[in-house]
Amino acid sequence: MADFLSNDQLVTLAKEYGTPLYVYNADQIRGQYNKLEKAFSKCNARFFYACKALSNINVLKYVQSIGASLDCVSINEVKLGLKAGFTPDRILFTPNCVDFAEVDEGKQLGVNLNIDNISILEQFGNKYGGSYPICIRFNPHIMGGGNYKISTGHIDSKFGISIHQLRHIERVVKKTGLHVAGIHMHTGSDIKDVNVFLQGLEVMFDLARHFPDISFIDLGSGFKVPYQDGDVQTDIELLGKKVTQAFQQYEKETGKSIQVWFEPGKFLVSESGYFIVKANVIKQTTATVFVGVNSGFNHLIRPMFYEAYHRIKNISHPDGPERIYTVVGNICETDTFAWDRTLNEVRESDLLVFYNAGAYGFEMSSNFNSRLKPAEVLLIEGKAHLIRKRDEFQDLLRNQLEVL
Ligand SMILES: *Cc1c(COP(=O)(O)O)cnc(C)c1O
Repeated sequence: MADFLSNDQLVTLAKEYGTPLYVYNADQIRGQYNKLEKAFSKCNARFFYACKALSNINVLKYVQSIGASLDCVSINEVKLGLKAGFTPDRILFTPNCVDFAEVDEGKQLGVNLNIDNISILEQFGNKYGGSYPICIRFNPHIMGGGNYKISTGHIDSKFGISIHQLRHIERVVKKTGLHVAGIHMHTGSDIKDVNVFLQGLEVMFDLARHFPDISFIDLGSGFKVPYQDGDVQTDIELLGKKVTQAFQQYEKETGKSIQVWFEPGKFLVSESGYFIVKANVIKQTTATVFVGVNSGFNHLIRPMFYEAYHRIKNISHPDGPERIYTVVGNICETDTFAWDRTLNEVRESDLLVFYNAGAYGFEMSSNFNSRLKPAEVLLIEGKAHLIRKRDEFQDLLRNQLEVL
């Protein structure tokens, strides 16, 4: 796989800012955004960056500056988005299982609202009638997505309102006079197959006939990006072509022109991220050679949580002989980053980099084991900016009240 940042660049950053360190390369975020714009250039499409993947305020500002909109899953993400300069019309609020007050706050802030259960839909309709447009999140019951934990379209999923409840939704809309401006689906992450989106789109077109006032269909996200050589990824060009055709056909049949919205998270930021750690110890046991690094699932939980594969490279010794290792963290819990991985010989103090660390990396980090969270650096046109200081010991005690 092509490496956008050289080993030397990464080693230099690690020396300057210390490890463990997250580095994000803004040019790659823009590159991914341009791919989307290009693939959907003949379509009336809007892209809302799903900022739960990586929400540092500087990343939000950068994404704002290149023209994307923002998908938020909590009211705090909405507020971060506003702070980053997104106008309310460029923010979509897609919460799940929040109380009415949180949805109401989104309304007060003037953002687009995506409602995912009938209870809230009814309360919103009773309070506001048709005075504020909303979008309804449906569950089309299409299986998509890599891991069960990140698949949201199945019958047991807590997300969205089942399409089988359409009749009841229609009753609620009729009674309250709700203005349904859009319909939405998001069936999970790591969807390789373009057909999953196209099947979903067919379901959405069927639903659209029941909501004459809609101006957009939101197909969510879940675009898969390659994590290793030979990985299947979502063919964005093909998807763009097929979706464009489908919308043109829909327009021809109905005389209605509607926008298509997407909410890419991983697609925009995953590959832009590099997580650099230091090998603390090499430990040979009876069965295995371990590399123990100065991090753990408290900093990058995806391998343990989703069985995710992250490519790893020894950037201090890239020409060393190849050896097989199991790469583990330093916390007191089994935290394996990679099993049976071939790396150039790792010596204590060598720097290793994890690729594809931009999405759900830092964002899911914690202070487990009273370890400090890493620093974050954003590269813009090759220039490094520290965008988060490494935690300090005092940060562990912040918000704690000493009563004894
Ligand atoms: C998480 C999420 C996304 C982004 O998913 P990715 O796989 O990171 O692209 C989009 N929409 C909603 C509603 C989400 O919850």
